[in-house]
Amino acid sequence: MSSLTNKVLVVGMDGLRFDRLQAVGSPVLSALMSSGAYGTSKLPYGEAGTPRTESPGEIVPKAPEPGDGGRVISSRTDSGPGWSSIATGVWPDKHGVVDNGFATPQFRKFPDFLTRAKNARPELATAAFFSWAALDEHGAFSRAIDHRLVLDGYTVGWANADEQVAEAAERHLAEADPDALFVYLGDTDEVAHDLGPHCSEYAAALQAQDAYLGRLLDAVRGRASYPGERWTVLVTTDHGHVDEGGHGGTSDEERTVFVIAHRLGDDLGGRSLGEPRLVDVGPTALAVLGVAADPAWDLDGVPLELG
Ligand SMILES: [Zn+2]
Repeated sequence: MSSLTNKVLVVGMDGLRFDRLQAVGSPVLSALMSSGAYGTSKLPYGEAGTPRTESPGEIVPKAPEPGDGGRVISSRTDSGPGWSSIATGVWPDKHGVVDNGFATPQFRKFPDFLTRAKNARPELATAAFFSWAALDEHGAFSRAIDHRLVLDGYTVGWANADEQVAEAAERHLAEADPDALFVYLGDTDEVAHDLGPHCSEYAAALQAQDAYLGRLLDAVRGRASYPGERWTVLVTTDHGHVDEGGHGGTSDEERTVFVIAHRLGDDLGGRSLGEPRLVDVGPTALAVLGVAADPAWDLDGVPLELG
C-alpha cells in the first residue's frame, strides 16, 4: 500500500475535438497521452435534425421527445448535458439537463463528484474554477464546493476568462491544499462556434489552453508537499463540433469525446482506456480519493482502470 496522499485534478476543455487535438499536437496534452492512458467514445445522445447550437450556451428552442420506454436518452450534444454528465456520473435522462436551458436539473439527487467527495470525506478540500456561469446558477457544480471561482465568459470574454481561471487555479494549487479540483477552459468552443474547428484560430485556442494546463501541472509539481502526494490528472471535453462549427446533433464529429488520464510521476505507457465515457470521469475521481460509489447513488459511470 502506498502512503502517498491521492489527489485529483479534472480539467475540462469545452468543444475540443479529439481529431483536432491529435492533428495540432499541443505539447502538454501530447505528453499526458504518451505517458498516460486515453481513449474516445461517442455520446449516447444527440438530437437528429434539430438546429445546431451556434454560440456557447445558446438555448435552441426545441423540447426533446420522451424516450420510448427503454434507455433512450433524448438530449442535444450541448454543453449543459455534457458538463452535467461529467460532473454527476450519470446521463441526461437522470440528471435532467438535455440542452443549455437547464429546465429540470436533478442535481440534488445527482450531485457533482466534488460534492459527493466532500459528503463522503468531509476532511477533503475541494475546488472548482469555471467561466460558464450556468454551471453555478443551476447547480451542476454545487456551492458546497469549498473554494470556487465563477466567472461569466460572456461578459469577460472566453479567452480572458480562461486566463483568469487558470491563474486562480494555479495560485490555489501553489498556496492552498486542495484534494480535488475541477478547472474549466472554454475558448476552444467559442472559436469553433465562430470559425469551425479547422482554422488556425482554433489551434491557437487549443495551444493556449494546453499552456494553461502545463502551468497547472507545474504548480502541482512545485508544491512543497508534492513528494508525499500522488496526483491523477483527467482531461476531457463535453462534445465535439461539426466541421462548420456548432453542435447539438448526432454526427460522429459532435458525439465523439475523449478522456485522457495521467498519473504524475507514473508512466502508464500511452495505453488505451478502451472507450471512456463522460460519466466515468466523476466515478474515477471519487475512486482516486478512496470514495467507493454507493449503489444507491445510481451512477452510470464506473472508475476507469488506471492500474
Ligand atoms: Zn460545450
